[in-house]
Amino acid sequence: MTGTAFIVGSAYLLAAVLFVVGLHQMRAPSTARRGNLVSATGMAIAIVATVVFALIDSGGQLVAWVALVLGLAVGGAFGVIRARTVKMTDIPQLVSLFNAVGGGAAAAVALADFVLHITGGTLPLTASIPIALDVLIGSVTFSGSLIAAGKLQGVISGKPITFPGSRILNIAVVVIALASAVLFVFNTHSLVLVLVILAASLIFGVLMVLPIGGADAPVIVSLLNALTGLAVAMAGFAIDNQAMIIAGALVGAAGTILTLQMAKAMNRSVMSIVLGGFGTADSSAGGGPVDADLTNIRQVTADDVAIQLAYAQHVMIVPGYGLAAAQAQHEAADLAKLLTDHGIDVKYAIHPVAGRMPGHMNVLLAEANVPYTQMLQLDEANAAFDTCDIALVIGANDVCNPDARKPGNPVSGMPILDVDHAKSVVVLKRSMSPGYAGIGNPLFSDPKTGMYFADAKKGLADVILAVKEYVSA
Ligand code: NDP
Repeated sequence: MTGTAFIVGSAYLLAAVLFVVGLHQMRAPSTARRGNLVSATGMAIAIVATVVFALIDSGGQLVAWVALVLGLAVGGAFGVIRARTVKMTDIPQLVSLFNAVGGGAAAAVALADFVLHITGGTLPLTASIPIALDVLIGSVTFSGSLIAAGKLQGVISGKPITFPGSRILNIAVVVIALASAVLFVFNTHSLVLVLVILAASLIFGVLMVLPIGGADAPVIVSLLNALTGLAVAMAGFAIDNQAMIIAGALVGAAGTILTLQMAKAMNRSVMSIVLGGFGTADSSAGGGPVDADLTNIRQVTADDVAIQLAYAQHVMIVPGYGLAAAQAQHEAADLAKLLTDHGIDVKYAIHPVAGRMPGHMNVLLAEANVPYTQMLQLDEANAAFDTCDIALVIGANDVCNPDARKPGNPVSGMPILDVDHAKSVVVLKRSMSPGYAGIGNPLFSDPKTGMYFADAKKGLADVILAVKEYVSA
């Protein structure tokens, strides 16, 4: 091993250690920021090592310098500017765009490697297999992620898009892509086969994501994130770059775990997600009223809610999709601060799939500067509901539906927040409309529940005004 190869190898090893340590730190909100920084440092070391090695390898050619500096400047500037200017609510589509860039770059690396090998005259199996897999997975990720980003941004309809024969076309392009990949491995000089894999995979990526409803897009984003990792790892094998193999494998594994956890928390099987029996019911968009009978529910006003809160000792705020939709995180945090300042214990119960993207509630509440110590995860929150005087549910529905404990409905088996165990409950939402799962919620007609019909932002602002009167009286 030459001196340069040793230094580069050591830098990659250090980068890999930093990736793992950073990922570990991202497990808890209190250390996540540091974890991000540690992983970013690892990535910076890997990039510097790769650039230096590439320049030495190229013999210091001017064209290599120009290409590297331009690539770093354009890519780095785009990344920094987008990351600094993105709105918190637009993070899912930005992640999806980054997935597209990652998958597309990995596929481009494989194509370049193919051309290099072909002009060099040989393409061993150790290179042809990763090239075929990389073009396949990278292209699916590229086109699929672009469609997912478009859906999340609202540029493409968030409703499931299907057309007659779409499933057959789906199967056909998968068969064509896989058969071409196998043929390519045995006929490694065929540029036509590489182009067929590329085209079929790009079409499959589009067809895979189009039937997904907008509300389900975050799950497919997580799946595509795992595929990006896999594509990058394959590109690492193709060009023999250990840092890419390790980083890609970590992203692939983390994305797979996240997808599995989300599927579990939504009570879906990963198989049904992969087979496409998924996302075709975007019930939150057009669910319509279920259980719209207002006779067996108890309606309350901002004043009623304020009295209950002002005289409580332990309050649990249960945020859901409606809080995000109304952008009411700051009002929720203001109300919590007002109560805490008057000696009332306030916590937030965070369900893993509350909202429409993984960690949605954590991100929103962090934006409103809610201390991490006040955010309780599912198990911690459920242990605290029994002693809670009032649970204030803000725009959450499915994640606290007690019917999940019964079989035979869309949320059966989904782990829920045991809101109905609190001494009293207030649900703040605009109507009796269902949540994402499209079913009624018996919590709303529970005698200890008061329904406070309002938009989350306006409703909380009114409660804050009323609480101020009680606590200052
Ligand atoms: P839900 O979708 O079950 O319910 C949200 C509620 O918010 C609705 O009932 C709606 O009622 C209310 N709402 C909407 N807008 C407002 C507003 N402006 N002000 C007040 N209330 C409002 O949300 P949950 O968070 O409880 O559950 C999330 C669901 O989404 C789960 O079924 C989960 O599986 C699914 N999901 C989660 C993903 C994730 O990664 N987190 C990804 C994909 C799906 P109303 O119209 O009456 O106001």
